[in-house]
Amino acid sequence: MNESDETARGRRLWVYEHRFSEIINVGGNFSAIGSSVATAAVRAATADAMACFIDINEMQAAASETIARLTGAAAGCLTSCASAAVTICVAATMTGLDLALVESLPAEAGERDEVVLQLGHVVDYGAPLLSAIKLAGGKPRIIGQVSRVFDHQLEAALSERTAAALYVVSHLTAQNGQIPLERFVELAHARGIPVIVDAAAERDFRSFIAAGADLVIYSGHKVLAGPTSGIIAGRKELVRAAYLQNAGIARGMKIGKEGIAGAIVAMEQALAHPVAANKPEEILAAWCQTLTALKGLSVERRPDPIATDMHRLKVTVNRYLTGFSAAALAQALGQRRPRILVRDFGISHGYFELDPSFVSADEAELVAEAIKETIIKSTTLPDKGETDHRNGKVNSYLRWLE
Ligand SMILES: *Cc1c(COP(=O)(O)O)cnc(C)c1O
Repeated sequence: MNESDETARGRRLWVYEHRFSEIINVGGNFSAIGSSVATAAVRAATADAMACFIDINEMQAAASETIARLTGAAAGCLTSCASAAVTICVAATMTGLDLALVESLPAEAGERDEVVLQLGHVVDYGAPLLSAIKLAGGKPRIIGQVSRVFDHQLEAALSERTAAALYVVSHLTAQNGQIPLERFVELAHARGIPVIVDAAAERDFRSFIAAGADLVIYSGHKVLAGPTSGIIAGRKELVRAAYLQNAGIARGMKIGKEGIAGAIVAMEQALAHPVAANKPEEILAAWCQTLTALKGLSVERRPDPIATDMHRLKVTVNRYLTGFSAAALAQALGQRRPRILVRDFGISHGYFELDPSFVSADEAELVAEAIKETIIKSTTLPDKGETDHRNGKVNSYLRWLE
């Protein structure tokens, strides 16, 4: 391979041959753009694994050992992604080690099939969390209101039909009024019910196990920057039951040797160099300086709602001053070459965020210049209202095949 065909970020010739559009990611670990960029060591491990036969069980045993060291859990295993891990963990709490029951899911789910969760945790991470539960044959039993959930509501929902209580740690959940994890665990354990924590996008690999969770789920391809994979960490008997689902519904969710190899190396890297709090001061300061000067924009540093030591820049567009919305600006940035993808969760409220985690200082400058240029030429921007909520999700999934 010609070295000049490979950029510092490791994009390879194959990517160029296919003319895939170049992306500057100031959004986050989004699945739709491949989640993260892996180190050379992670890439080498996946490539090596592709070159030989390897015993998958031996690899999973090695992964278990690494997951245990990373999380403090007794054991762990890998699957295809965090969403699959939710389905598999739910199944594990329903079947235990009963192979006949494993084979009977999801249609015949046995005596314990309810999964209790708080209304504020019923999120959509690109697909409804409830779909992942139901895929195992689990019946979601939702408690409380979006703004407030009480202990007695959890206690009343736990019964001999309950397979598990599921807790989501994410910026996507309601951030107020939910039962704290420690209390949630205490109440579930008082009834002998295991607690599953979905922490797919989190950087905190230890505190949920430490808080007493029985199974904890992470994405291997988000913060850890491994290949697409899902990490299950937890109590040994439950991890065994989770892995046994490969004899049933999890067959279609399997991870391959290349995924296991890359995920192990990604976890080893996180152990060797704890994933640092991301606060590239210079990038944030430079963005502030360029963007505050632009008419109609206001900027503000914002900590992540969960990982509060991680900061992003919130950019609010005053459409009465600019004549266009935050959505129109974000869309125009996404149509440039290279494409600039911003963090758009707040777009219907007139703002987006810039995440400095994945860009070099040069790329960061390019982003600020692109925003400036787009605004100066803003007569070409449509005064588009908010994003099209009716067709937004269908469009985001099917734009490539119109
Ligand atoms: C991203 C995410 C998922 C899904 O993760 P994948 O590994 O992409 O399947 C599930 N739950 C939460 C909270 C997430 O943020």
